[in-house]
This record gives sequence, structure tokens and C-alpha cells, in this order.
Amino acid sequence: MKALHDWFFQNKRDFPWRQNPTPYRVWVSEVMLQQTRASVVVSYFERWMALFPDIQALAAAPLSQVIKAWEGLGYYARARNLHLGACQIVEQFGGEIPRDASLLKTIRGLGPYTIGAILSFGFRQRAVAIDGNVTRVLARLFAIEQRVDQQAVKQLLAQKTEALLDREMPWVTAEALIELGATLCTPKPVCAVCPLSEQCLALAQGKAELLPLKKEAPKTTVLRRAVGVIEAEGAILLKQVQQGKVMAGLYEFPYFEMGKERWGMRRVAEEVAQLFDLEVEVVQKLPEEVHTFTRYKAHLFPTHLRAFHRKAIPGYEWVSRHSLGSIPFSAGHKKILTRLP
Ligand code: SF4
Repeated sequence: MKALHDWFFQNKRDFPWRQNPTPYRVWVSEVMLQQTRASVVVSYFERWMALFPDIQALAAAPLSQVIKAWEGLGYYARARNLHLGACQIVEQFGGEIPRDASLLKTIRGLGPYTIGAILSFGFRQRAVAIDGNVTRVLARLFAIEQRVDQQAVKQLLAQKTEALLDREMPWVTAEALIELGATLCTPKPVCAVCPLSEQCLALAQGKAELLPLKKEAPKTTVLRRAVGVIEAEGAILLKQVQQGKVMAGLYEFPYFEMGKERWGMRRVAEEVAQLFDLEVEVVQKLPEEVHTFTRYKAHLFPTHLRAFHRKAIPGYEWVSRHSLGSIPFSAGHKKILTRLP
């Protein structure tokens, strides 16, 4: 693995979480990186560390502040789990992240990859950390022609990764494999400059781009939603998404599923009037926004409406316009908010 280590030391990207990789910084960065590109994560990570520099600060913060700091990264369960995990570490482990895999497994939201990363990069232990990038590298390096989502194949990959780890600096091998998968051994691999090209079986067999084998991703479901941005007396009507739903804790404007229909602005006003028993008038149509989350692609068709009076509506809140900036919105509705005149 000398060639891999040499390549890594010469080519690794400079990210803030790679400077001073404490277990806490590794944990936060790895959770942020799970569904988000590293270049996007950088500013979120730096802001997070300024707000919550350690486990104690994160555990003491209100959940609403944690969600707000996550706004725009999506998959908000990750932020909620980080907060719950920090509270758990303070209560059960005196605020210190345990350095043992069996204890780490008991912490909310920590899966095998994140545990491996914390042990390897944070504690510099001999541990495997296999994410999608490493899976791709290993499947190609050893020309594994079985589906990599199968448990037996995952175990095989873990054994092969463990065998590759350097005796002196196993954390360097672990991180170098991730870096290789993120930069060279990508879906369209750049084998010509790869430090593993001489050992790579998939390259030798002309199969690099065909591996790894995976089960088919679930099809995307398209949603079409008419959104009512209802304003009255300087406030906007919003709903906080309930716990247990994908966007739990975030705020959204009221919306209606349109299915295959196309609603005009009058129709949206009528539906709003009927649902909330509110007298409203159309102000204007706002631009369509598209928001993708989990396996959904939501097309949002917003209409700006004015209500003639404000009345209490169970499950909804009237939020003054000057407070909107401090409220965490789901990504699609945040886009609508930024277009609101
Ligand atoms: S030689 Fe190509 S396919 Fe093999 S590990 Fe390197 S980049 Fe990936």
C-alpha cells in the first residue's frame, strides 16, 4: 500500500475536518458528508464548529438552533440524531465519545461506517471505514462480481479492507481508500493515474466501469404541489412538520397535492378559503421551484395570497415577516421564501 499512501500524501484535499481530527469533528463531518458533497459541507462544518465547538455545546443547544444550523443540507434526521447523540454522550459517557465500537453502537444514529471513521481518524485505531467510495474501489480492486449490498459481500469487503490496512498507520490507508474513491476511482474511473492500477483486477479484466454491482435504485416519485403563501397583517401562515415525517421540525407553507391536474391561482385561493375558512385574494403567481428529497421530486407551484384578516388555525402559526429569517424551512419552501417580494 506504499503507492496508495504516497499518492494520498501528495494529493489529498485540504478540508477543515482533516485539520485537528478530534473524534467529535470526525463524527460531525462524517454525518454531514453522508448525503452531501464535500465542497458544500465545508461552510456548514465551519459554521457548526463555531456554534457548537464541542459535545457539551451541542447537547446544551436547543434543537431548533441545531436544525437551523443544518438548514439547506437536507436529510434532517442526521441533525436530530447528532443532537440526540450528543445528549446521550453527555448523560452516559461524561461528555467523552467512547473509543470502543460496542459502546459507539449504542449511540443514536451511529452506523458501521461512522463508527469506523471515528475509531480510525479520530482515535487512530485499526478500524475499517467502508463508505460507497471504498466499496467501489474494493469491488474493482478485487473484481467482485456479486451485488455489494448483500450482507455476505459487505463482510468480505470488510475483511479485504482490514487486510489492506497499514501496520503502522492504518488510519492513513482507511482515509486514502476513501479519497481514491472520491477522486479517481469514481463511477468513470481515471485508472491511468491510479496508484493501485498495477494490482487492480477489474482494470486488468476490462471491467472497471461495470463494477460494483448493485440492486436497482428505487424509482423517483414525482409530486406536484400547489403552495399557498398566505399573508395577513404582516405575517405568513406556516406549519411545522410533525415528528416522524421526512421534514420533521422544519417549516413549510400550506400546500395541496395536485396529482396530474394543473391548478390556476384562483383554484389555489378557493382551496385555501375552503380549507381554512379564510377570505383571500390572489396577489401574484410565484416561480415554480423543484425540490428533490429521498426518492421524491417535488414540483412546487406557489401562489402569493392575501387574507383579509388573521385568525387562529389549529396546527398552523402566523409568523411575522421579519422573523422568517430565523426559522428553519425545508429546502423547497426556503426557495419560495427567497422569491417572496
Ligand atoms: S485502477 Fe481504476 S478501477 Fe482500479 S482502483 Fe484504480 S481507479 Fe479504480
